[in-house]
Amino acid sequence: MRTEKIDLKNLDPSELESLIASFGKERYRSIQILRWLYQRGVRSFDEMTNLSKKFRQALEQVSFISALHPLLTEESSDGTKKFLFQLEDGNRIESVLIPDKKRLTLCLSTQVGCAMGCRFCLTGKKGLKRNLATAEIVNQILAVRETLPDKTSITNIVLMGMGEPLANYENTLKAIELMTHPEAFKFSSRRVTLSTVGLLPELEQLAREKARFRLAISLNASDEETRSRLMPINRRHPLKRILEVCRNFPLQPRARITFEYVLLQGENDSLEGAKRLLKMLKGIPSKVNLIPLNEASGIPFEKPSEERVRQFQGILMEGGLTAIVRASKGADISAACGQLQGKAPD
Ligand code: SF4
Repeated sequence: MRTEKIDLKNLDPSELESLIASFGKERYRSIQILRWLYQRGVRSFDEMTNLSKKFRQALEQVSFISALHPLLTEESSDGTKKFLFQLEDGNRIESVLIPDKKRLTLCLSTQVGCAMGCRFCLTGKKGLKRNLATAEIVNQILAVRETLPDKTSITNIVLMGMGEPLANYENTLKAIELMTHPEAFKFSSRRVTLSTVGLLPELEQLAREKARFRLAISLNASDEETRSRLMPINRRHPLKRILEVCRNFPLQPRARITFEYVLLQGENDSLEGAKRLLKMLKGIPSKVNLIPLNEASGIPFEKPSEERVRQFQGILMEGGLTAIVRASKGADISAACGQLQGKAPD
């Protein structure tokens, strides 16, 4: 029965090595399999032509190779593409491919829905259904990559789609290990970014484990009260403690933590707030992404005027912070930040 078999893409490289060793095979066989799965993107054991037929059959007895197929692909007028995937159990998730100059960034989901309930986000409105398996995370990359023309490659991965990645810690970290492993996807650790609301125990664990990827914190306020109002999770994981962990976070040389700040008119866009933010981030190697809200029905906020956005940015930059205004892409196909709902258009 297929359900009793192991999905090979749920295994990290060392788990795959142990499985292969249980067949009495050498380590390099697991490396060959990693290459087949993630560099070549094969869907069957038959395609693994440098493994003996007998070994392929033995592998097939205990394991299988899962895949995702887009149920629907929508393209925005700005070139952003949104992919809707149906999972084996009927749940749906989305991934977004964002072209930007020389970059082609893929935004992945890590959960079906999200439990964090950020008030400016449509994903959060539906609550959490379940975590994604490691295979379901990495299969988003393989499925999107297959749709690309020859010689076009995904350059960056961001874990910013549906879900809170650190609430699905183990599966997400295994997926990142596959993304950055030299025999699997081979992404540079500088090109993989995990974005979190800042779950403290997991953030501390990441710091201890010296995570090898870029970290982004979804900040969105410069005081506890405003953050708790916009992001209820702040009551349990307060801003002050998150910043303390960030201050001591073991970053790779020249790396910085990205702080994301969705700007909401009259809520968190005051110039006093910008000054507080500047002060708060002192001593943390950081850059700030300012994201004017993508207005959507069901979201009780509006975006600030362009002038206010510029003033807010100006205060940060004058204080010596790198602050970039990110025009969120794909809003016309509900692919922009905070708009993913895992459903087909009405
Ligand atoms: S912004 Fe992110 S963490 Fe917050 S509810 Fe939406 S998906 Fe969840």
